[in-house]
Amino acid sequence: MINASEIGMDRIHRLFALVEKGGTTTAASIRGRVQSSGIDTDDFRLATTMARLNQFGEQHIDFEQFAALVADELLMVSRTFNRQLVIPDWQEFSRDIEIVYHSVEPDKSGRNADYIPILRDADSEKWGVALCSVDGQRMGLGDVDVYHSIQSVSKPITYAYALEQEGFAFVSQYVGVEPSGRAFNALDLLPDQRPFNPCVNAGAIMMAGLVASGAPALNAREITQTLMDLWGRLCGGLAPVLFSEQTMRSERDTADNNFAIAYLLRGRLGLPRGVDLHKMMDVYLSCCSIEMTARMLSIAAATLANGGVCPITGQQVLTTDVVKKTLSVMQASGLYDNAGTFTLEVGLPAKSGVAGAIMVVIPNVMGLATFSPRLDDYGNSVRGVSFCQQLVDRFTFHVYDSLSGGRSGCKRDPRASQHSRKQKDLSDLRWAVSHGDRYALKVRDLMLECMIAITLADGQIEQPEVQSIADTFARIMGQQTDQAELHSLAMARQEQSAQADSKVAVGPFEGLLTRLQHELPTLDDNGRELILESAFRVACADGEIEPDEDRKLRAIADVLAINPGVLELKIAHFKRQFAG
Ligand code: GLU
Repeated sequence: MINASEIGMDRIHRLFALVEKGGTTTAASIRGRVQSSGIDTDDFRLATTMARLNQFGEQHIDFEQFAALVADELLMVSRTFNRQLVIPDWQEFSRDIEIVYHSVEPDKSGRNADYIPILRDADSEKWGVALCSVDGQRMGLGDVDVYHSIQSVSKPITYAYALEQEGFAFVSQYVGVEPSGRAFNALDLLPDQRPFNPCVNAGAIMMAGLVASGAPALNAREITQTLMDLWGRLCGGLAPVLFSEQTMRSERDTADNNFAIAYLLRGRLGLPRGVDLHKMMDVYLSCCSIEMTARMLSIAAATLANGGVCPITGQQVLTTDVVKKTLSVMQASGLYDNAGTFTLEVGLPAKSGVAGAIMVVIPNVMGLATFSPRLDDYGNSVRGVSFCQQLVDRFTFHVYDSLSGGRSGCKRDPRASQHSRKQKDLSDLRWAVSHGDRYALKVRDLMLECMIAITLADGQIEQPEVQSIADTFARIMGQQTDQAELHSLAMARQEQSAQADSKVAVGPFEGLLTRLQHELPTLDDNGRELILESAFRVACADGEIEPDEDRKLRAIADVLAINPGVLELKIAHFKRQFAG
């Protein structure tokens, strides 16, 4: 009989097997295994293991030592070693993100905010993207450790703080949740005299007043410190939250419009608990002058994505209900006057600020922050918005990508849950092919047609090429195909090709495109992906993608309504593999 602890030991053996070589392992390979999952070695869930590990230096670690080392944090060790995190293949995902990062980099359009010197003179070239998953997997590219004022990115968090302190009923007496459709600094209110929402200046100023009114014993600086402390917890204390006196002075010197809003609020609805207008303005302007980095903001965003629990400390910083309300407001109004378009195109709650930051929340997956000072006409960072667009062009992160029609342009879904579902769908499809399912057979036929059409680019199709198509099919589908049938299909297409050369008929490639076009409405993402995959493998078979093959792949992806970005990632992946 096997007892429970033996089963446990067996699992520890399997963990050990992932890092051992010749019966022992080293601290470096254990750290490497953890880091490749996206988890930092300073992760709080691995603190004991890592502290113990440090004592080993370069020494060899045998199984007994390993078991003792990981004993207290088995769960997290097992999750990182076995990649059981929200994004299982963090390495692959990071490389894809790098491609998006670099594709946005050359865009130098837009210009810095210039209403205060510190923003006008900021280095426009700065470009950083930081990500943090809800499991605490992290990465940063470019200028992610540059402190900048958070400006309007502060607004949803001031609102969240107000909700947390005072409750929705009281807060909503002073601010609405409607998109304004007007400039962010407009002197415009709802018919009942409340500001439209907490993301426009009027709403944010009112929220600053509301927070100040709840802490009469504190001065504006102390109240700001309370909000900075909240930011600190949201970003897991990664680095200090700073305050820029220079920004604050300039903000105050140029705040006429904001003062006009404050007077309007006082004159119309009245301020919460009769709070002093100047104190309210000091809190508002101070919040704009808080300084953080993209890396910090990405963790704060991840805390929101994780329902208020900071992924890198495990601390519940905001209640889930407050986060839900905050995200809803960000979704409707986070990107100034462009919020509607952003929601349509990107479909994610986000908040931008005029210093060039955007904080984006992908619920249940990750938070991300971009930093690039050049702004578009709406006041949103050009590269930041473009990064978000490119991201959802490649990954199923748009809120409505979850619509279940199975046609998302074959976008990638790096989530663990979706990954296993996808594997199951694909294995079902493979099984169905071998059992004669009509849909599955259609996919199979189109795969074979695609491979033949690409191969025929060289004009001839000989037995070794037919064999190679059969092998490729077998690798993708895990099953053989009828060689005689494949051979006669190939010959028929070759015949067609010869006729096309003599200008009598359309060539096999054009014929293929027409057929794909015709079948498109009946093909789901899985079918489309397999067809593209088969074309892709044939094109890459000789280790490179010739210009003509590249053109054909793009044409196939296009006719299959597969997003161009997805094909880019596939090509980049292939090049990496080949280079490696
Ligand atoms: N400090 C700016 C203002 O109140 C806010 C800038 C922003 O929207 O990021 O006008």
